[in-house]
Amino acid sequence: MYADVLIEYSAKAIDQTFTYIIPDRLKEDLKIGMKVLVPFGNKIINGFVTNIKNNYTDTYELKEINDIVDKYFCLNEEMMELGKYLQAKTLCTKIAAYQTMLPSSLKVKEQKSNYSKYLTYIELNKDIKEIDEYIENNKRSKKQVEILNTLKEGKALKSSFSQSSVKTLLEKELIKITNVQIYRLNNHEAQNIQIEFSEDQEKALETIDLNSDKTYLLHGITGSGKTEVYIELIKRVVKNGKKAILLVPEISLTAQIVNKFYDRFGDDVAIFHSGLSAGEKYDEYLKILREEVHIVIGTRSAIFTPITKLGLIIIDEEHSETYKQDTTPRYHARDMAEFRKNYNHIPLVLGSATPSLETMARALKGVYTYIPMNHRIGTSILPTVQIIDMSEELKKRNMIFSDTLKNKIRDRLIKKEQVILLLNRRGYSTVISCKSCGYTYKCPHCDITLTYHKTTNNLRCHYCGYTVFKSEECPECKEKALYDYGLGTEKLEQELSKLFPEARIVRMDADTTKNKGSHEDIINKFKDHEYDILLGTQMISKGLDFPLVTLVGVINADATLNIPDFRSGERTFSLLSQVAGRAGRSNLLGEVILQTFNPDSFTLKCVQEQDYMKLYNYEMKNRHKLDYPPYYYLTSIKVASKEYELASKEITKIKNYLEKKLSNKTIILGPTTANPFRINNIYRFQIILKYKIESNLMNTLKELDELYMTNNKVNIEIDNNPLQV
Ligand code: ADP
Ligand code: ZN
Repeated sequence: MYADVLIEYSAKAIDQTFTYIIPDRLKEDLKIGMKVLVPFGNKIINGFVTNIKNNYTDTYELKEINDIVDKYFCLNEEMMELGKYLQAKTLCTKIAAYQTMLPSSLKVKEQKSNYSKYLTYIELNKDIKEIDEYIENNKRSKKQVEILNTLKEGKALKSSFSQSSVKTLLEKELIKITNVQIYRLNNHEAQNIQIEFSEDQEKALETIDLNSDKTYLLHGITGSGKTEVYIELIKRVVKNGKKAILLVPEISLTAQIVNKFYDRFGDDVAIFHSGLSAGEKYDEYLKILREEVHIVIGTRSAIFTPITKLGLIIIDEEHSETYKQDTTPRYHARDMAEFRKNYNHIPLVLGSATPSLETMARALKGVYTYIPMNHRIGTSILPTVQIIDMSEELKKRNMIFSDTLKNKIRDRLIKKEQVILLLNRRGYSTVISCKSCGYTYKCPHCDITLTYHKTTNNLRCHYCGYTVFKSEECPECKEKALYDYGLGTEKLEQELSKLFPEARIVRMDADTTKNKGSHEDIINKFKDHEYDILLGTQMISKGLDFPLVTLVGVINADATLNIPDFRSGERTFSLLSQVAGRAGRSNLLGEVILQTFNPDSFTLKCVQEQDYMKLYNYEMKNRHKLDYPPYYYLTSIKVASKEYELASKEITKIKNYLEKKLSNKTIILGPTTANPFRINNIYRFQIILKYKIESNLMNTLKELDELYMTNNKVNIEIDNNPLQV
């Protein structure tokens, strides 16, 4: 017997299968989809078995497979097909596709590592008569007697007894040791929680047909109770003996939602996100492979969990850009979910308060079934939104906080209610600049100004990680005139504690959530009212549900509005509506303050009126006029090289090539410089394609990709449906 093995080798040129002999000792266990160790050149490397066959006709001398990496980890047929789809859709290598589908902790290298965790128990090894006899004769060995008496009731943890007595009993073979594998994230007790559904929820539950293979858009305003709809749907799926995947956009959100699921389903839940330790990931994966759980909750890559008997996929906050991976393979979890929906003939539910325009357009066309939920749960209503013109405030020397926001924060502190403040920019301030000569710190490798971080007193490049200490005087003119402009979360926190020394403030951004469990910790403490004010980046905008929050302040509503990108209106609306939705979620009324230098912005008006359809219609008109999605599809092609001339020459060649190959209905924009133009000393140019139907596209892109496969001076990066152009 022979196996075709895909070699785990990052070079695109070797992205193909090689045939190996299956030695007799592996014949029984080896299956398609398993990882194996094979000799390649003079090395032993990892590979994936993609096919098993009886015959081999070529005359080339074959080598044997060395070993199976792990008998448990085997991609099933659906996963093998999904891998092919992922590869076709993103033009990544075959091996990258399969590697993406396994958690990184399982990318076992040469040696086999074992993440399994065990507890050691002891139990009786002789019948009761013999044990009693021993007890009778050894009454003075009190500790031994105590152990034996305890073990008569059943096995017990070895560590809870005197180890020397345990040793004696083991030597006498009166007791024995058993190791029991445990899961790190377990021991949740399901509670019997009964709720009465709102009218909207009832309607949604009636509409979604679990026996169909339809895609549903659950368009529910913030606080309309979408999560309860997910829970009920999954309950019904599990009752039918099937399983479900729930995707959530961010780690910061998983803790809250996962706890809700533990409360309802106990240990019937496996979770996946980047905040888990390697061991935890291993355990969670094992639960799925052993068919021990019915529910998977996780971020983007959880769509690849090899769960069988899938009955439902739900994508919460479907508009979230975190569902698109921004490194190879550049896949969108929604596309992968569509594939699995079709493969399994099951429904897909997309939930959001602010659906992406693409999704909404499909729902309005009838491609998706549209389910609105327009009312908040109970007596709660949407908060009022007030727009503050910061240019007026500047005249009063209010640089960061408007009078209105200050007064309202003070008011909430007195009332013992809670406040959320959004500032979509981490660090202390954006730019440090010299008042005397105008010098600004820039990254020497990227076209980016460095961000100042006060706690560490250094400046960092958020692209390549370059770090430099901030000096006392200007590096250029040596004057002591360095001054910080702009505002980051760290500085905001400092200013806030100066204004409200009595307030308990907590900050949540990429810098304060580096440690494991820190998201959860901040959220739980805020929920328990150990803090009065939570301030942070977009991380705090989605899904969080705190009944005591009655005020949400957005420090700079312009941050995303001013980015030159066709999606900036949609993005701003969605971010601000989401964060606004954190206010007034219980019987307490909520208020939202938006600080801006563009008080007349149409987007902000839509946020103020909380009118999604108004924004949708306006944006759709613009997109139509400018040939943008959802009217046109986009593909971006980037060329990157250390050599400026070379990159520039190659991108022009590519443009000519595309003009020849593609229909004249396809719009080819560029070449232009990419943004940023230089990252890590690599120059980048790009071309954007806009098209409706282009039958030749995927083939052409594939050819293009292959042309540059062996070129080690120029890199090409193709992104279908890029988020930013
Ligand atoms: P969404 O996800 O739509 O923003 P959530 O699902 O978080 O809203 O629900 C908002 C709040 O209302 C939560 O605290 C939730 O527990 C509660 N809730 C949801 N449905 C009901 C219901 N039918 N009865 C009572 N409380 C509910
Ligand atoms: Zn840099």
